[in-house]
Amino acid sequence: MRIRKAGALAAAVLALSLAATACGSDDDGGDGGGGNGGSGGGGAEELRIGIKFDQPGLGLQEPGGGYSGFDVDVATFIAGEMGVEPENIEWVEAPSPDRESMLQRGDVDFIVASYSISTERQDLVSFAGPYFLAHQDLLVRTDQEVSEDAINDMTLCSVTGSTSAQNVVDSIAPDADLQEYNTYSECLPAVQNGTLDALTTDDSILAGYAAQDQYEGQFKLAGFSLSDEYYGVGVAKDDEALVEEINTALQTMIDEGAWEEAVEANFGPANYEYEQPPTIGDFSFLEEE
Ligand code: GLU
Repeated sequence: MRIRKAGALAAAVLALSLAATACGSDDDGGDGGGGNGGSGGGGAEELRIGIKFDQPGLGLQEPGGGYSGFDVDVATFIAGEMGVEPENIEWVEAPSPDRESMLQRGDVDFIVASYSISTERQDLVSFAGPYFLAHQDLLVRTDQEVSEDAINDMTLCSVTGSTSAQNVVDSIAPDADLQEYNTYSECLPAVQNGTLDALTTDDSILAGYAAQDQYEGQFKLAGFSLSDEYYGVGVAKDDEALVEEINTALQTMIDEGAWEEAVEANFGPANYEYEQPPTIGDFSFLEEE
C-alpha cells in the first residue's frame, strides 16, 4: 500500500483543517499549481488512484492535462477525507481489462473507474460502495431504428473484461456478433462509419460520448435498461480497513450533498438521468445475480 500515513490522529486533524479550508474564504488557496504542499504541512501523504482516461463525464484526461468526471470527483473527495490534497494524487489509467491485476500487484491504492461490483470480481479484489447505479444500454447512430428483440442480430462493440461484454454473451444477446476492444472510445469510429451497429456498455458512459462536441448529433442511446451496474471502489482483496475508510468517506459525500453536486456537474451537460445514490455497504443486489 502506497498510502503514507502520519497516523490516524494526524489524518483526522488534517481532514478537519482541509474541510475548514474548503468552507472558508480561500485565503491561501488558488496556488497556481506551483507549490507542492510547501510549508503548510500535510504534504507527506500521497495516493495513486486508478481511473478511466477516455470516458467523458466519468474519467477523462483533458487535452490540457487535467482530469475530470464523476469518478474523478468521487476519488478526490475520498482522498480529501483521508487527508490527501488533490495535488498529491497520482492519476493512473485503469482500463477495464487491467483493473483486477493492477490492484493485485499494488500498482494503485484504489480504483474508481465505472467498476461494477460482481461476485466474480470479488474473488480477486474487494469493493467499497456501491456509490452509483448505472444500466447497460446501446449507443447507436441517430438515424438507426433499434428494437430490444433484435439485439441478437446486431454487430456489437464492447470491452474485454467488462461486465458489458459478459452480459451480452451470458444473457442479453448470446447470438450477437460481439467485437471486443481495450477501451470504449476505440469502438466509436466503427459505430460512426457503420462497420458496427452499436457500442454497448453502461448508459452513464454512453451518455458522455453522445454529448461530446466532436460527435454532436451523431449518436443516441437506445434507452434500454439491460442490466443493473452498481459501481464500487476497487481495493486490494480483503483490505477491510480501507473498505471501511472509503465507505465512511462515500457516506459523508452523500450526506453533505457533494455527491449530488458532482453528478449534476458531470452528467447534467449530457442530459443523463441518473439514479439516486445506492445504500453504501448494501451488497444485496449480488444475490439477484
Ligand atoms: N461497469 C462495467 C464494468 O465494470 C462497464 C464499464 C467499464 O468497463 O468500466 O465492467
